[in-house]
Amino acid sequence: MPESSSDATTPSLWRRAVRATLLWFDTSAAAVDDGDLDRIDWLRVVPFIALHLACLTVFWVGFSWFALWTAVALYAVRMFAITGFYHRYFAHKAFKTSRPVQFAFAVVGAASVQRGPLWWAAHHRHHHRHADTEHDVHSPRHGFFRSHMGWFLTRRGFGTNFDSIKDIARFPELRLLDRFDILVPALLAVGLYALGSWLEAAHPGLGTTGPQLLVWGFFVSTIVLFHATVTINSLAHRWGTRRFATRDDSRNNAFLALITFGEGWHNNHHHFPGSARQGFAWYELDLTYLGLRAMALLGLVRDLKPVPADMRTARPESA
Ligand SMILES: [Zn+2]
Ligand SMILES: [Zn+2]
Repeated sequence: MPESSSDATTPSLWRRAVRATLLWFDTSAAAVDDGDLDRIDWLRVVPFIALHLACLTVFWVGFSWFALWTAVALYAVRMFAITGFYHRYFAHKAFKTSRPVQFAFAVVGAASVQRGPLWWAAHHRHHHRHADTEHDVHSPRHGFFRSHMGWFLTRRGFGTNFDSIKDIARFPELRLLDRFDILVPALLAVGLYALGSWLEAAHPGLGTTGPQLLVWGFFVSTIVLFHATVTINSLAHRWGTRRFATRDDSRNNAFLALITFGEGWHNNHHHFPGSARQGFAWYELDLTYLGLRAMALLGLVRDLKPVPADMRTARPESA
């Protein structure tokens, strides 16, 4: 009996659904070749959408100062891991560190739900090679939504080009972290729920509960952290000033630098990406660099690459 057209499409849809679900847990699960790499993979990104919707439960779980400060602390620690390590270390090799410290901050970065360090660094290196050209997957020239998050919701954005990160992909522990990137955030969420439940019984004066600490510490903190991070792709190539006449549209923006711990000095960064420091001038606050300096004093990192003296000189953009 001949298959009807709808029967013929069912297996393909079914296979796509199975693959999408597998990819939630194992990013190396085989991809179904459905042709269009630039279409949003809605099934795969269900958890990303759910993470946003989960923030709405903040109206049910209530408020406590403890839950709020937990959210702020987790924002700060994870932002530093993203900016200092995912970005300046893994993507740019702007300083050196030991293998245990490298792994420890890879784990903290992975708790941000921004995938593993290999995926992050591979896409970021691609961005610097092709910034604001047609090949740059998150240039705002392709539209705000695509630059902010549309780019990694697609199949093209999901993959990792291992050829561009051979120097860091040689560490099996980092490959493992990348492959099972849901593990660390899941443990953080469970840990927060358990901590909140214990505090509710042991220290009721704090006014927190398991669900409350989960929602503030994980859902709200993670979503704010995520949107702050990706403003560097969407807004820091649009809003701000240009000290250097780089080939791209990068901008320096003090507000974005504040919320991203220094990454908002993005025009500086595109001009000289190799430096551990992105605020070139003394008045350009770069909290990540200060944090890295503190870690260097403690002997945890070393050889922070400086900004060459001649590059600190402000040059107006040529018309
Ligand atoms: Zn950029
Ligand atoms: Zn960069």
